[in-house]
Amino acid sequence: MFSLIIPVYNEEDMIDELAARSIKAVESFTSNYEILFINDGSTDSTLSKLIEVRKYHSRIKIVDLSKNFGHQAAFTAGLEMALGNFVAMMDGDLQDPPELLAEMHRMISQEGFDIVSGKRKGRKGKRLRLATNLFHIFFKHIAGIDEMENSGNFSMMNRASVNALVQMKESIRYLPGMRSFIGFKQGYIEYMRDDRMSGEPKMTLGKLIVLGADAIFSFSKFPIKVCLFLGTIGTIVFFIAGMYALVDKLFGWSVLGWSSTVLSIYFLGSIQLIFLGVVGEYVYRIYKESQNRPIYLVKKFYDAETE
Ligand code: UDP
Ligand code: MG
Repeated sequence: MFSLIIPVYNEEDMIDELAARSIKAVESFTSNYEILFINDGSTDSTLSKLIEVRKYHSRIKIVDLSKNFGHQAAFTAGLEMALGNFVAMMDGDLQDPPELLAEMHRMISQEGFDIVSGKRKGRKGKRLRLATNLFHIFFKHIAGIDEMENSGNFSMMNRASVNALVQMKESIRYLPGMRSFIGFKQGYIEYMRDDRMSGEPKMTLGKLIVLGADAIFSFSKFPIKVCLFLGTIGTIVFFIAGMYALVDKLFGWSVLGWSSTVLSIYFLGSIQLIFLGVVGEYVYRIYKESQNRPIYLVKKFYDAETE
């Protein structure tokens, strides 16, 4: 059995074409499959469209989440519910071409890879391209996770790797990072990322920034290292400045200026604020993880038995 997971959030215009193209792509290499649409708390007609499509295609299943949990949570729901011995994750806006699934499937079933991820050669959309590329390069270097550069959610895994991935229960999730973390034999397939077929991106700038922060804070000690480094430099500089001020005072060479005092207060103050912010990020993350809340909640699962 093969499972394809597609999270959708307010994608009503997309559903028909998305379902048609995905079914066609999947049927090109298997007839034993399920397509799991995760409705991530859509507020438009996405769910009713999905239910409509399901009438004609019994292999489509719908996981209706109780509210919007974010697309990493939606993918997680799919990973936990998928029955396949091969499982693929794909965005629901047709930016990841479903036609590539056949090649991914071939690499896993014939070339001995456990995981095959799509690596974006480029993207047609201009949106945030520079920021995204910079993020991936930055992430690769600071998190020490190789080969992750420019790969997102689009991927296929075999059962063993899916089982490994769903064992990671952290509530702050960055699946591309987690997928690299678990090891296994990883393969890549390069592709050009299409423009989203219609509608606005559902990952708003805010959501993307949070995702980036999740990736950096949960996969590296980099922010802490920066703090320690700057803190050490600051201490040395201010120690020297302090000695100077002391000597200055002792010999009574000059009246110490007001500006230097105020400047150092500003400087130290702002550095402390930044560090507090970084520490706060970690405290927040520890707090979130210790709450141990479910990553997603299912309102209804439309599978073979559900009417
Ligand atoms: N998505 C979701 N929940 C959200 C935001 C997005 O399930 O809170 C889905 C969305 O419907 C799409 C996929 O995640 O299928 C990727 O979203 P988008 O295209 O907006 O992200 P981007 O391409 O900008 O990374
Ligand atoms: Mg998109």
